[in-house]
Amino acid sequence: MVPFLDLKAQYAAIRPEIEATVLSVLDSGQYILGPAVADFEDKFAPFCGTAHAVAVNTGTSALHLALRALDIGPGDEVITVPMTFVATTAAVLYAGAKPVFVDIEPRTCTLDPDQIEGAITPRTKAILPVHLHGQMADMNAIMDIARAHGLKVIEDACQAHGAELDGRRAGSFGDIGCFSFYPGKNLGACGEGGAAVTGDQHLADRMRMLRDWGQAKKYDHALAGFNYRMDGIQGAILGVKMAHIERWTELRRAAAAAYDLRFDAMGVERPTTVPGRRHVYHVYAVSVPERERVQGHLQRKGIASGIHYPVPVHLQRAYADLGYKPGDFPVSEAMAARTLSLPMFPEITPQQVMEVCDALGEVVDAAAV
Ligand SMILES: *Cc1c(COP(=O)(O)O)cnc(C)c1O
Repeated sequence: MVPFLDLKAQYAAIRPEIEATVLSVLDSGQYILGPAVADFEDKFAPFCGTAHAVAVNTGTSALHLALRALDIGPGDEVITVPMTFVATTAAVLYAGAKPVFVDIEPRTCTLDPDQIEGAITPRTKAILPVHLHGQMADMNAIMDIARAHGLKVIEDACQAHGAELDGRRAGSFGDIGCFSFYPGKNLGACGEGGAAVTGDQHLADRMRMLRDWGQAKKYDHALAGFNYRMDGIQGAILGVKMAHIERWTELRRAAAAAYDLRFDAMGVERPTTVPGRRHVYHVYAVSVPERERVQGHLQRKGIASGIHYPVPVHLQRAYADLGYKPGDFPVSEAMAARTLSLPMFPEITPQQVMEVCDALGEVVDAAAV
């Protein structure tokens, strides 16, 4: 049996550290924000190569906070992609702004910079690229276009902790970078969590206020804010995990390299990584014809798989009133139809990787015959 991911294996490996830190928060009585969260922020900002990290309760909140900190709201348009988790779009709508989709580039499945200029209107305020599956979007090109048009950039780095482009980390290119610490993410809390990182002191200050009801000081509400605070226990757990994240990322990359080697020999279409980009493999997705049949075969062999994502956001019923239709974003739609995510987590064994490859080989060969 090969699970899709194994959260219990990670916990088992660091159980004494986690238990000690959780107990210390319980003893401290500082259950919301407090020193454990501040300590985590002090570790996470340099990890991202930014001066500031503002810890919040979810990745979605981080995105919403980033948009509000940049004063993006009703009447404004934000250029983003439909091939993402719905939270990216939802955050723009929470802010009262309008999401304007552009397609992805087929190689990396991230925002295609060539599509941006055609989508810019006088109302465009920001570009919101998504570092899908753990590989960064083409941030050099995106930042050039943003600067030329005076647009803000928010990176959805919720799947890309520690990803790099030309040696610079995800979250450090745009005005603000947003992360999720949902348990299954590369850096996961034991519950919900998120953070927004920035190099800008003023934006960091605004986000700190906005996450805590916009308070400049107690009961002095300078901004119309939110309750987006991080729990002390989650901050403490994430602080412990910071000592392991680089190693876990390298283990993911090693598993991906083992998959790559086999799939190249088998002729299976696997993730492309652009030279100069450090992919952190939140998701390892191959592209297969007859996906349902392939997935069924893996399942019979005891191998879990997933689809990220089967329906792009522009075709989700909830967002029908944005006015998009099938065929609007052909690259996203083709990816949604063919992509299959394979087991990927730091603790996956070389044996398990081989089992997945063998099982995939059986069904791919059968298709070729
Ligand atoms: C997980 C995720 C989010 C939302 O994060 P939550 O912590 O679940 O709110 C946003 N965008 C992307 C691309 C994600 O993968």
